[in-house]
Amino acid sequence: MIDIHTHILPGVDDGAQTVVESMELIEQAIKEGITDIIATPHADNPHYDVPQNVVLEKIELLNTEMKKNNVFINIHPGQEIRIGQTTIEKLTNGELLTLANSKYVLIELPTGGIPANTIQIIQGILNLDKVPIIAHPERNRAIAEKPSRLLKLINHGALAQITAGSLAGHFGRNIQKQSLQLVEANLVHTYGSDAHHTKTRPFLFDAGLSYLEKHKKLYAVDIFLENNARILENGEVIILEPKDLGKTKWWKIFA
Ligand code: FE
Repeated sequence: MIDIHTHILPGVDDGAQTVVESMELIEQAIKEGITDIIATPHADNPHYDVPQNVVLEKIELLNTEMKKNNVFINIHPGQEIRIGQTTIEKLTNGELLTLANSKYVLIELPTGGIPANTIQIIQGILNLDKVPIIAHPERNRAIAEKPSRLLKLINHGALAQITAGSLAGHFGRNIQKQSLQLVEANLVHTYGSDAHHTKTRPFLFDAGLSYLEKHKKLYAVDIFLENNARILENGEVIILEPKDLGKTKWWKIFA
């Protein structure tokens, strides 16, 4: 299995702080059956901005460490890019990393809302023949209040990544239910752990998939895992037509 969203690189953001913590995360991933990880530290985030050369250096460091310890997983470069005024310029100049050198770009919205220029940025990314993937929309306040806001972004050509822990209940029952509803409405296309730490923010890869299975969403499990593989290979992802949100009863998360 392939994980497209992780914070496993040591000492760069709010993920692993040391090489030991990175190795613990890698061992947890292996136990979950993950073979490939895309390392996506924060870029252009108000708190963290990890440049691409640091991403590549830290991956090399972990490759050496894994060899020393006879542990092995494929780590691919990436970034979780907070969208802003300079996103398009930086992507154009090659200053930002796509997911595993594919055309797919993992973008982050601020937790509190959807900036007014989001559609413009999505269009700008598409104009570069790249495809934006919105990280964990289920954790965005504006989307929680009005999920048709996500539909608008999806209809404009963005994809979305659901976080394993959200489906597993790690962020509470409301986010769990809303996550399932986003899956049911075909508003998410890919699956990632957003793992930061083995105890506080673990992979929960299996737990999230089991929750989908329990709710008879086997097709979604298949599509998510297939799409993750296609992202890694820079292929075309499977997209199901979003369902009518008007008929969906949404949960109010931040009431
Ligand atoms: Fe993240």
